[in-house]
Amino acid sequence: MPSGADIIRQIKERIEEVDPREVHDLIEAGPNGTVVVDVREQHEFEEAHLPGAKHVPRGHLESRIETAAPDKSKRVILYCQSGNRSALAADTMQNLLGYEDVASMTGGITLWKDRGYDVDVPRALSADQRSRYSRHLLIPEIGLEGQMKLLDAKVLLLGAGGLGSPIALYLAAAGVGTLGIVDDDVVDLSNLQRQVAHSEDRLGMPKVDSAEIAIKEINGDVNVVKYETRLDASNIMEIIEGYDVIVDGVDNFPTRYLLNDATVRLQIPVVSASILGFDGQLSVFHPYEGPCYRCLYPTPPPAELAPSCGANGVLGVLPGVMGLLQAVEVIKLVTGAGEPLTGRLLLYEALGATFTELKVRRDPECPICSRDPDSISDDEMGVFPDYEAFCAASG
Ligand SMILES: [Zn+2]
Repeated sequence: MPSGADIIRQIKERIEEVDPREVHDLIEAGPNGTVVVDVREQHEFEEAHLPGAKHVPRGHLESRIETAAPDKSKRVILYCQSGNRSALAADTMQNLLGYEDVASMTGGITLWKDRGYDVDVPRALSADQRSRYSRHLLIPEIGLEGQMKLLDAKVLLLGAGGLGSPIALYLAAAGVGTLGIVDDDVVDLSNLQRQVAHSEDRLGMPKVDSAEIAIKEINGDVNVVKYETRLDASNIMEIIEGYDVIVDGVDNFPTRYLLNDATVRLQIPVVSASILGFDGQLSVFHPYEGPCYRCLYPTPPPAELAPSCGANGVLGVLPGVMGLLQAVEVIKLVTGAGEPLTGRLLLYEALGATFTELKVRRDPECPICSRDPDSISDDEMGVFPDYEAFCAASG
C-alpha cells in the first residue's frame, strides 16, 4: 500500500509542474489566455492570492472549474499553499475532466512570496460588518462593492439641525465611514420638534457633540469629524476639501452661493434641500454634470421670501422626509447606483401629498460653472449683495 507521500510523488511525475518565476513572468506580461487558479479554501484566498488569480477550492473543482476556465484547450496553471493540493487538482483536470494543458506551480504561494513577488490582499468585511450590512449585501445595486464604497466615503453635513439630524443617523446606520458635521449652534428646546439627533438631556450642548453621541450610539465605527463653526469665506475651502459629497441643509442664501462656488471649483457634488412650512425642495448639484445652484438661482429670491431672515414655521416631520431623500441621493452618488437627481428639482408639498419634478438645465452663461474650475478666484466666491441690507429691505 503506497503512502500519501508516495501518491503525491507519483502524481507529480505524470503532471507538468512550473516554477513560480514562469508564472510571475506570465502575469507580468499581461492577459494571454492562460488562466491562473487558486485551489485553496476561501479563507486562504481572502488572506492573499496571486494577482488576477481565479478561485476554485479543490473541493469544488469538478463543479466549478468550467466557469473559471471554460476553454479546455487553453493553458491553466493551478496553485495552492505549497504545491501538493494543486498537483492533485491538476491530475484530476488532466485525466478526468479533459483539460489539455494543465500545470501546477511548485512550492505554491509560499514559494511565490519567498521569491518576493507581489500578492493581492483583497479587502473583506469583518464578521460583524457582514451581519450589520447584510440587508445591503442582498441588494445587487449595493452589494459588497457598494458597501465598501460607503465605508470609504467621506460625507460632509452642513448643519446638524432638522435636515442634518435624520441624514446623520441614517448615513451612520448605512455605514458611511466618515461623517463631517459643521454647526456652531447648541441644542435648544425648540429644536426637538424636528431635530431628532438631539435629546432633552443634551439641551445646551453643542449640536456637533450631541450629533456625535447619537451617531456613535447607532454605529460606533463611524469616524465623526466635528467643525463647531459657521461656514464662511475664510474657512470653506479648508473644511470641504477632501469630502466626496456635501449635504447642504443651510438656511441662508449667502452661504448657499459661497458653497456653490467653492464646490464647483473643487468639483464636489452637493445634495441640497430646503424646507418651509409644508413645502420641501431637493436637488443634486453635480459640478459640470448638471446645473449648479447659480444656474438655478442667478439672483437671490425676493427678500420677503428668504426663509433665513427670521424664524419660520415648519412641520416637524418635513425635514425628516426631505433629509432622508437627501440621504438616498448621497448613497446613490457614493455607490453609483441609480439616477441621481442631477438636473432635476423635486418639489414636495406635504398638505396635498404631491411630488412634482422640474427639469433644470445648465446655464451656458452661468458666472461660475460655465468656466474652468481653476479660473474661479477666491474674490469671486460667494459674491452676492450684502445680506444684512438684503434682509433689512424686507422690513
Ligand atoms: Zn452654474
